[in-house]
Amino acid sequence: MIPFLNVGAGTLELEAELQAAMTRVLHSGQYIGGPEVTEFENRFAEYCDAKFAVGVGNGLEALRFALLAMDVGPGDEVIVPSHTYIATWLAVSQTGATPVPVEPAPGLFNIDPAQIEAAITDKTKVIIPVHLYGQPADMGPITEVARKHGLKVLEDAAQAQGARYKGQRIGAHGDVVAWSFYPGKNLGALGDGGGITTNDAKLAEKIRMLGNYGSREKYNHELPGGNSRLDPLQAAVLSVKLGVLDEWNERRKTIAVAYSDALSDLPFSLPAVPNFADPVWHLYVIRTEQRQALADHLLAAGVQTVTHYPRACFEQPAYQEFSDQASRFPEASKIAAEVLSLPISPHQSEEATDHIVKSVRSFFGKGSKS
Ligand SMILES: *Cc1c(COP(=O)(O)O)cnc(C)c1O
Repeated sequence: MIPFLNVGAGTLELEAELQAAMTRVLHSGQYIGGPEVTEFENRFAEYCDAKFAVGVGNGLEALRFALLAMDVGPGDEVIVPSHTYIATWLAVSQTGATPVPVEPAPGLFNIDPAQIEAAITDKTKVIIPVHLYGQPADMGPITEVARKHGLKVLEDAAQAQGARYKGQRIGAHGDVVAWSFYPGKNLGALGDGGGITTNDAKLAEKIRMLGNYGSREKYNHELPGGNSRLDPLQAAVLSVKLGVLDEWNERRKTIAVAYSDALSDLPFSLPAVPNFADPVWHLYVIRTEQRQALADHLLAAGVQTVTHYPRACFEQPAYQEFSDQASRFPEASKIAAEVLSLPISPHQSEEATDHIVKSVRSFFGKGSKS
């Protein structure tokens, strides 16, 4: 069986370095905050071409704290993609604000900048583009429409560590960029982790306080903050893994290129890469009306696939208030019915990739491409 993603293989490749890093933390006697966290924050900020990075407990909290730092709350509206992972929406809802969905750009999975303006009202405060599947959203026109209407931009970059937009790393195109270091992401910890990057010193400071009981110095609480910090143990692990991120993203790209070359003549949509994007292939997502039959065929051939995501956010029980609005977002509903993610990871062998290609082709009754 070819697994969809083998996270353990990545850990084993770096076993010696990870053990050394964890032993260092073990011996340090400091298990919250401290130099390991600062070191990772500094290195990650530099990697992303951002001035500041702040670690928090997970990606959802990174998004939520960023919204709170932007003074988003009850009565406000936040523009979100109609097609995204539910965390993007939940972060908005948890502040008391309302998510306002905007459909993807034609032929792409990310938010359509051309449809944002029609969704802006006098309650709108923030736009959240998501760099879904490791594909950068079109940040130029998004920041332009935000500036025109006096809105802030919060990027959800949970799936896009290392991706570039027009040659510049994702990390500070918008006002704040939220990251997840969940184990399965391109840069993943050995447990939960998250953070933000920004060039705005005030927002960075506020987000840091929100994750630490609203406090800058011990026992002085300026904000009603929470407790959501990046552990030094995870920071030490992430520093090791940041060192191989580019190489591992390259390995993903090699697989993506192999798929796109070998499957281009088949009757389904391959992931499109716009000129402005240098994606990091967190996922390789195809679209076909025969999704279930193809998934079954691949499973029988020993290939595990996953659907990201089988239901649009507004079709989830958690968003019942949207239940009569599905017809307003037909593209997101259609995407949810058609997408299928082929296995892609830095530790997938060439033989596995070949077998996956053969198995997809055989579903369509085709041998290898001539
Ligand atoms: C993973 C993910 C998140 C949430 O990250 P966690 O660390 O799991 O909380 C948010 N948005 C997107 C697009 C994600 O893929």
